Amino acid sequence: MAPLLTFPKGGVHPPEAKELTAALAIETMPVPDEVELILGQHIGAPCTPTVAVKEEVREGQVIGTVTKGLGVPLHAPVSGTVTAIGMSAHPLRVSAPSITIRTNREAAPVRYAATDWQKFSREELLKKVQEAGIIGIGGAGFPSHVKLSPPPNNPVDTLILNGAECEPYITADHRQMLEKSAEIVEGARIILKILGITSCHIGIENNKPDAIAAMSQAAAAASTPSARIAVRPLRVKYPQGSEKQLIQSITGRKVPGFALPSAVGVVVHNVSTARAIREAVVLGKPLYEKVMTLSGKGIARPANLLVKVGTRVSDIVEYLGGVTPQLAKIVMGGPMMGFAVSTLDIPVTKTTSSVLFLAEDEIDASPHSQCIRCGWCLDACPMGLEPKEIAIHVEAGRAEETGRFGVFECFECGCCAFVCPAKRPLVQFVRLAKMKAKR
Ligand code: SF4
Ligand code: SF4
Repeated sequence: MAPLLTFPKGGVHPPEAKELTAALAIETMPVPDEVELILGQHIGAPCTPTVAVKEEVREGQVIGTVTKGLGVPLHAPVSGTVTAIGMSAHPLRVSAPSITIRTNREAAPVRYAATDWQKFSREELLKKVQEAGIIGIGGAGFPSHVKLSPPPNNPVDTLILNGAECEPYITADHRQMLEKSAEIVEGARIILKILGITSCHIGIENNKPDAIAAMSQAAAAASTPSARIAVRPLRVKYPQGSEKQLIQSITGRKVPGFALPSAVGVVVHNVSTARAIREAVVLGKPLYEKVMTLSGKGIARPANLLVKVGTRVSDIVEYLGGVTPQLAKIVMGGPMMGFAVSTLDIPVTKTTSSVLFLAEDEIDASPHSQCIRCGWCLDACPMGLEPKEIAIHVEAGRAEETGRFGVFECFECGCCAFVCPAKRPLVQFVRLAKMKAKR
């Protein structure tokens, strides 16, 4: 096996906790009675509804578009009737504009037929990606067609598919790499054609040897001189799946300051996004379903589920047999970068990769104390920042001065808070600082 790659600075080793779901095959959740589609699922302008209340819609139909600015359309995940255009609970904001659709179980199923994508030009492929509403599924939800159109002054020579999945608990990408490896690799070939380049690396942490084997086999079978695709095993170290750290691990190139990966000739997509791009291009299927992990000791039956975007977490919980008496905290996303939520009436969006139902012994609720200046947070920070200084300045009411400590380079990975012996909520301090400091 090739040597394990990793990034040079910082990083931590939280308990992986993937054993609850790593061996569970992806299961398709039955279509819920109702779905709620948040109109702002991507970075950029939210969608404007193109349907009206009481209108009948068909699975895959466009129900919202972005008329101005950055964005992608939104599609109906089910056939049914629009019952409301209003507000829904949102994991990060209190509420957000949404479209609610009541499922029509009598509607004829929608079927997709495969087509030969090789016949499409680069422009046609890009248009299909945009029209299918593809965004970065594993990250912040950046529209994929924009990432696939790097500025001409930054020529790209390398595609990286991110299969690191370094957040504890989450196994959705792991299962897709095992069960859908050929589809992911076909997605990589499509992306290479769009970018007009030939080199693709697939980064996978070494705690997923079965995924490394499956993806290596698929890559070897599909590689050609015009699409050289290879798996790069990565050392297990959080946040190995962060874009800048992944690029440095695999290529040795360091993305400067606030620059994009294309500044060093690289484009990064998540493995699940590559699969969605393949579905958009080969099948003409928009992005309205996603694989997510439901895990933790607080859920009766942990699972890797294929769900319709817009499915309420409460419906998922009911399908999985409810919560357990041990449930102490619900987190949307992973334990390192996710957000605690207080309601189950939240719909899944295109970027929801997991919901964790954590028991008392899976969380640390101990109170925080004063900084003891041990310096551990400095050692752990992969960006070389000074989290303790940021926190001290915020506490002293001088948050606006934290720009000099690089607060805007912080991507809120949580390594600093994880190692802090005083249990200081360093990421929350950073978020406060970002609101008040000037770039
Ligand atoms: S959360 Fe920010 S400050 Fe803390 S380790 Fe991560 S990048 Fe550094
Ligand atoms: S790890 Fe915690 S206690 Fe140690 S220097 Fe950083 S903020 Fe202070």
